[in-house]
Amino acid sequence: MVSRVIPVEDFDLVIFGGTGDLARRKILPGLFRRFLSGQMPETSRIIGAARSDLDTDGYRQLIREAIAEFGGEESSDAEGIDAFLGQLHYVTVDAKGDGGWSELHDLIRFEVVNAFYFSVAPSLFGDLAERLHTYKIADADSRVVVEKPFGRDLASAKALNATLAEHFDESQVYRIDHYLGKETVQNLMAVRFGNMLFEPLWNNHYVDHIEITVAETVGVGGRGSYYDKSGAMRDMVQNHLMQLLCLIAMEAPSEFESDAVRDEKLKVIRALQPVEPHHIVRGQYDAKGDEPSYRQDAEDPRTFTESFVAMRCEIANWRWAGVPFYLRTGKKLKARTSEIAVVFKDLGHSIFPGDEKRHRNILAIQLQPNEGMQLQVTIKEPGPGGMRLVDVPLDMTFAEALGPDAEDVTDAYERLIMDVIRGNQTLFMRGDEVEAAWAWTDPIIEGWQARHDVPKLYDQGSSGPEDAMALMHREGRKWREIKG
Ligand code: NAD
Repeated sequence: MVSRVIPVEDFDLVIFGGTGDLARRKILPGLFRRFLSGQMPETSRIIGAARSDLDTDGYRQLIREAIAEFGGEESSDAEGIDAFLGQLHYVTVDAKGDGGWSELHDLIRFEVVNAFYFSVAPSLFGDLAERLHTYKIADADSRVVVEKPFGRDLASAKALNATLAEHFDESQVYRIDHYLGKETVQNLMAVRFGNMLFEPLWNNHYVDHIEITVAETVGVGGRGSYYDKSGAMRDMVQNHLMQLLCLIAMEAPSEFESDAVRDEKLKVIRALQPVEPHHIVRGQYDAKGDEPSYRQDAEDPRTFTESFVAMRCEIANWRWAGVPFYLRTGKKLKARTSEIAVVFKDLGHSIFPGDEKRHRNILAIQLQPNEGMQLQVTIKEPGPGGMRLVDVPLDMTFAEALGPDAEDVTDAYERLIMDVIRGNQTLFMRGDEVEAAWAWTDPIIEGWQARHDVPKLYDQGSSGPEDAMALMHREGRKWREIKG
């Protein structure tokens, strides 16, 4: 199978914070891969803009090193690297002052697509937006890309939205959640809305429950005090897990168009019921041997911030009424995995003598470490000995199903940046979506604070606190195993 790479329109992409960690680790190595695949026109330009006092040659050297470190297999393509670096430019810019802005204005080609990536702290968004207008660098056709975190509660998200809205229309704003750029996430929509097979079953008549797990093996060491200001609920649930929940639960949009898709996602968030305190379990990882505890990593022996959260949610609409959605995410867990599992109801009656197991079809969608899907089906165990039934997965890891091209599953960042250039907002969060997500999250966090809720300790390398298991056990269900 040969992938068809369609080059995007000619563009100038300015990356504010172009010398930062995210730009070096993800954005530029990703753009380099898109360049090698032939998706970036030869005349397009990437302009790094940051506080560091560099010139274009210095910036090219910085990015050469970043590609060597983070560029993966492609980083051995010396000719490709030289050609790509030739498309890079740099301007020293002070977001809070006047330095560099006239120079940036003179560099931009206004006749091509202009995009501005705000890969800086959100506190600088307003300064950047204002100066882009004062110096007449951005106009009604420009696009701005903003990074997470998009606020830390409803009030701050509203304030950020208002800041951006002062200078940009919503149709110009691209709020990135890299989870939405993953191949499987798009495939989830293809599977749901491109097949007859699933839609008739995708509701409370046939689905028993849905699980969404995003498990990490790393702790917060190194950025513990930063993480401690947010916690798993703000850092993961409000954005990534909610977005996955929306995609799995939303109604079919009338067409695959950005506002049609986002309207449907918004309806899901608005239909989410408030979560009862006894339907949420928070945890903090404990110390293990020489491995520090969460509190040690966070450098606060009294912190109540959670490194783990598990919850049972419900969506109040006709499709999903009564179907529990179990979400969990945490650090220092048993394996690194992101998985959505749609667990169908059991048959209720078995015609096979001696078959007492409750067989269930499960559609499991993995986002990491390997992207793929499995459908668990019940078959006859091969061999003699009568009708013994066994559950087996029909496996559809992309690499096997789609041949060699699938191994080059485009990284989420690359795809999303190319979508910005194409002007396609489907995989970006709209302002009202983000606000609705915070409106649902805020009372949960405020409840913890009001009750002085103390997170439960859990062992490093486990599946989280015991109480999280009980969340499902007491309803006669069981979490799927966390497997890498
Ligand atoms: P960083 O601290 O490594 O880099 C910050 C960049 O901003 C640097 O290029 C710096 O020169 C520039 N900058 C700072 N103050 C400036 C000013 N006054 N004027 C002009 N430029 C200025 O940060 P980072 O890790 O690259 O993160 C950037 C943004 O992306 C943040 O909002 C962060 O929350 C978000 N983010 C980062 C990651 C990640 O993996 N690093 C992941 C998700 C989101």
